[in-house]
Amino acid sequence: MDYAAPTTPAATPTARALATEAVHAGREDLVALGLHAAPIDLSTTYPSHDVAAEAARIDTFAATGARLDGPPVYARLDNPTTARFETALARLEGTADAVAFASGMAGLTAVLLVRASLGLRHVVAVRPLYGCSDHLLDGGLLGTEVTWTDPAGVADAIRPDTGLVMVETPANPTLAETDIRALAHVCGSVPLLVDNTFATPVLQRPVEQGARVVLHSATKYLGGHGDVMGGVVACDEEFAAALRQVRFATGGVLHPMAGYLLLRGLATLPVRIWAASVTAAELARRLAADPRVARVHYPEVGGAMVSFEVYGEPRDVIAGVRLITPAVSLGSVDTLIQHPASISHRIVAEGDRRAAGVSDRLLRMSVGLEDVEDLWADLCEALSATPARLASARAASV
Ligand SMILES: *Cc1c(COP(=O)(O)O)cnc(C)c1O
Repeated sequence: MDYAAPTTPAATPTARALATEAVHAGREDLVALGLHAAPIDLSTTYPSHDVAAEAARIDTFAATGARLDGPPVYARLDNPTTARFETALARLEGTADAVAFASGMAGLTAVLLVRASLGLRHVVAVRPLYGCSDHLLDGGLLGTEVTWTDPAGVADAIRPDTGLVMVETPANPTLAETDIRALAHVCGSVPLLVDNTFATPVLQRPVEQGARVVLHSATKYLGGHGDVMGGVVACDEEFAAALRQVRFATGGVLHPMAGYLLLRGLATLPVRIWAASVTAAELARRLAADPRVARVHYPEVGGAMVSFEVYGEPRDVIAGVRLITPAVSLGSVDTLIQHPASISHRIVAEGDRRAAGVSDRLLRMSVGLEDVEDLWADLCEALSATPARLASARAASV
């Protein structure tokens, strides 16, 4: 049996290093269970002959949203395999709890619904955000209203009905960074949500800097192999309970197989991030020195994402890569490149996109675990289709 299992992170204060936690968190009970790998529980329902006891447990969940002791009644309430991933991610982010969803967008949706259910429908957000996050806020699909601003404008944008301040740092796709501590300070009692998909808890733990809610597209680095879709929100117990109630009501649950893969992904998260970051920093350095490259964006916090602007046609670079995969998404073991203005941020209106610093010449690259020389050779070959600064200046003057 697996249910009493995952110890809550709060109950086990620990001075263990991140790399150790990544391998052990959410798995502490396995030895006692006689297991080495985490069990996958695919049950959609859980039998019980005691109807009164089940009714009481359903009432408890409805009233509190807290994780149930014992079997979850029905798989939309909870799942023991997914709970292991939630426990482990919370430990890495340094939060009391975490709630997993079918995707990052399902996680953001649940956060917005939790706040809207309290009548707090106004969101203050800093651009750029991931294209679909921008679209979800801007389109008002969930009855929310958004005020876009820069970090310096957040204090003035907050209203009595503001339920959330949202920022991505480093941001998708420009890798612009926000000082989380300073922003949290101006948010006061309004929860600050930081989308930590790009930095991951390996490089940055936003709650330690004053954020209340941390969002991940687990599809990216947490899974890490481009084969699982998921989302997770790390936060305090009170917010997590509200998220569990919304997840139960709206059904954006993570599949247990995805929960298993994400737990497995966390074990190698630190080594993947560290290794890919070294390569990314070196590629950023070489790109910055390349005459065909107009501008390179690489975050202070580090990480495996590099964005750069070329003098020539960015689509030629996408067409020219052979080792690097021309595809949207990020955070996989292999290197991916895409053109945000055409793909990931296509859904954001052109004017808003440009105002947020997403140039039409920008390329976004997610650096994987290949050898740096092989990646550089591929990039150089792809860049050979685009003109260098001097050549284009000469061409323009003819
Ligand atoms: C991909 C992404 C999301 C959305 O996550 P999905 O898992 O695709 O729903 C949100 N934020 C950032 C920064 C992303 O890169």
